[in-house]
Amino acid sequence: MLEDLKIGILGGGQLGAMLLKYAIDFGLHVSVMDKNSDAPCARHTQSFINGDPMNYDDVIHFGKDLDIITIEKEAVNIRALKFLQQSGVNVYPSPEVIGIIQDKFIQKQFLAANHIPVVPGVPVLNREDLRNYTGNLPACLKKCNNGYDGKGVIVLKTAADIENAFDEPCVLEELVDIKHEISVIVSRNQEGAIECYDPVLMVFNHERMILDFQMCPANIDRDVALQACNLAVKTAEALKLVGIMAVELFLAADGKLYVNELAPRPHNSGHHTIEANITSQFEQQIRLILGLPMGDTKLNKPAVMINILEPAAHRKSAITAALRTILCTSDVHLHWYGKKAGIEGRKMGHVTILENNMDNALSKAVMIRHLLKGKNDEK
Ligand code: ADP
Repeated sequence: MLEDLKIGILGGGQLGAMLLKYAIDFGLHVSVMDKNSDAPCARHTQSFINGDPMNYDDVIHFGKDLDIITIEKEAVNIRALKFLQQSGVNVYPSPEVIGIIQDKFIQKQFLAANHIPVVPGVPVLNREDLRNYTGNLPACLKKCNNGYDGKGVIVLKTAADIENAFDEPCVLEELVDIKHEISVIVSRNQEGAIECYDPVLMVFNHERMILDFQMCPANIDRDVALQACNLAVKTAEALKLVGIMAVELFLAADGKLYVNELAPRPHNSGHHTIEANITSQFEQQIRLILGLPMGDTKLNKPAVMINILEPAAHRKSAITAALRTILCTSDVHLHWYGKKAGIEGRKMGHVTILENNMDNALSKAVMIRHLLKGKNDEK
């Protein structure tokens, strides 16, 4: 019976907390491990373990009596997960998949070897090594490990910029003239059946390399949407994935589609599925790791999702006022993560706006973004 299964999530952030919410609907017993004792999940389960998902002993100790382990972030100890898997614990996604995805260059090599188009790039060891590649500039430099939310990405225009480059293993990628950034959440079950959620269009703030808002359905050509889904399916098959995965893609100005990045777990670009789809990405992940039937991925209503970021101190009151308006607006759904305040730019929550058509959803989104930014700051 489901209630007898012991499930563990590595990572206790907002993605873990949203997974927990759906785990309750299935009557599951879920433990969570995170190195921060004030991570969002800590307040939602009594089985919260304070430990480091990157630490071998902590992961072994956490996982040894569990039936199933899943993740909400890729920064986890692969060696420990392999050991647990050999001892009979089911690990989804598999340690092999997490290993491929943890390193951006290995990820790129894997995709290329499977004939999935990627942005050409070379591995560089450190800042010194970068000087051998001045001929490749301008280019995009990405940390191989632990980059997220654009924090491990910089554009190097000229050799002079190398002074400020990351001094660690990176990938130096060709600069793409990006027309659109798209994400497809793909789900694959234990028997190999695959379904895709509708592609999402992600609109970025390029100054801060962070997501501004995202919309689903994406206003892209049908052909491009189909191609994006086909690439997501091909990637999930190549990885023999069990569970869900976000496949982030670039549509270049010349019409080429590239897979940029994979996240084999619930993802920011799937938040709208909570209210907009028949089965949310979180419910889907739980269904798939449990071996239950895959849920219907259909989109019910057009949706726009906005991340709420921790504002500068002088704009705090604007956020409080914005949240009140959000709560008073019909079919606008607030998710507040309960994270510690004070780190400017940190994701504190998100809002999903549903409407009968995308134009109306976008108008509401513009109004809400305006409120969240604080009227005086709107340019
Ligand atoms: P992260 O893992 O931090 O999200 P990404 O690889 O998604 O890193 O890059 C962050 C953003 O940087 C992308 O959303 C895109 O806007 C920009 N970017 C990344 N790679 C390139 C590239 N090769 N050319 C141009 N812009 C890029």
